[in-house]
Amino acid sequence: MKPTELQVFKFGGASLKDAAAIQNVANIIASHREQPLVIVASAMGKTTNALENIARAYHQRQLEEANQLLTEFRNATFTAIKELFGDIPEELAANLNDLFVSVEWVFEDEPSDLYDYDYDQIVSLGELVSSHILAAYLNHRGIPAQWVDARDCILTDNTYREGWVQWPETQSRVSKTIPPILERGHFVVTQGFIGSTSENFTTTLGREGSDYSAAIFSFCLDAASMSIWKDVPGVLTADPRLFDNVSKIDNLSYKEAIEMTYYGAKVIHPKTIKPLQNKSIPLHVRSFLEPELGGTLVSDDAGDAYPPMVAVEKDQALVNISTRDFSFVAEHHIKELFDHITTTRLQVNMMQNTAISFNVVVNDIDDRVERFCALVNDNFKTKVDRDLELVTIRHYTNEVTESMRRGKVTLLEGRLPLTLQMVMKDVPVMRRKED
Ligand code: ADP
Ligand code: ASP
Ligand code: MG
Repeated sequence: MKPTELQVFKFGGASLKDAAAIQNVANIIASHREQPLVIVASAMGKTTNALENIARAYHQRQLEEANQLLTEFRNATFTAIKELFGDIPEELAANLNDLFVSVEWVFEDEPSDLYDYDYDQIVSLGELVSSHILAAYLNHRGIPAQWVDARDCILTDNTYREGWVQWPETQSRVSKTIPPILERGHFVVTQGFIGSTSENFTTTLGREGSDYSAAIFSFCLDAASMSIWKDVPGVLTADPRLFDNVSKIDNLSYKEAIEMTYYGAKVIHPKTIKPLQNKSIPLHVRSFLEPELGGTLVSDDAGDAYPPMVAVEKDQALVNISTRDFSFVAEHHIKELFDHITTTRLQVNMMQNTAISFNVVVNDIDDRVERFCALVNDNFKTKVDRDLELVTIRHYTNEVTESMRRGKVTLLEGRLPLTLQMVMKDVPVMRRKED
């Protein structure tokens, strides 16, 4: 096998949501039988949300609820695989049982002080289950596939729920593990989203991180290309769930893709682009519903003329921070604020300052904003506005900007030559009735 032939395919939750969806994925894989493939699987459908509820219940010591939710997940899983296989292969049943038992063992112990640690040990179950099912189903269909534990490949630091990839060790593990399997003519089926620490504890890479996992494998294996299979025809000018009249972009540069996804275009995880760009690996965003279509190609070769593109980040908080003694917000204040931003892991999407105040727009996750405000309380007053949306328009025009403003009030705005950002809130606007 020449490494340049290798492709990495990532199948997300929507493409694996039930038995029929898994059959469709197997058809797509079967039509690429002639080439070496590494297949990265996400958890089925909305499984990760369900597992988050289990992790929360366990952490709050609501064991009965945690067990009940786990049983529901187990039953849903076995219902799907009965439909898929008829008689469940023994090895698959045993593997899945081991996985469910490993979570029951977690429940035997007291929750740790670190919620993020418990979260990763439980939530990782989703990808482990789906990848076992997919690998077994491919073999059942006569497509030789070997299941690989991504935790033997992707090494991260100990930042639970947002593991930082340790690249040199990951590179060496991936290069040792994957090529021998491909050389035997087997496809590799592994998990997105998960890795492990040097002490072999499971970590996750951040919600929606399976695209990023696929990019890590692509980088380490010098893949010829990577494809992510979605329920949309490719990258569109905006999320079709939120906007009408969107259109597909056929070619996108890495730079444009990284800007769009950084500001919340949910179709690709923002960390995905860098490893691909670094090795000029083309990324195809394709529809698993219409696999014969070309989708969007993200590469070096795209031009720089683009239509207006809109990304919307919900659950934003605007934190207005002002000095208590009316002194200017100077560099040492900003340093102090950023130290606390780092320790509370606030994810900043926008910032602006005036003489005596500093505004940051952040993802409103857990109690991070409260913890930040408590930490800066000695020197700064804070005011928090929640339930906001951050709307980013790349290549903005007046027409698109005005249409975004309808029914909203803009609390903060930032303008660069190619990017307009608005932090917005819904307002009941008085409108004249149609005649
Ligand atoms: P999966 O988890 O199955 O890999 P996601 O649900 O994470 O897929 O991503 C696909 C979804 O991303 C689409 O269904 C669409 O609603 C949303 N989306 C957001 N912005 C865009 C965009 N600019 N182009 C296409 N899809 C987008
Ligand atoms: N299953 C994980 C999530 O839903 C990772 C992913 O799907 O990319 O966040
Ligand atoms: Mg997803």
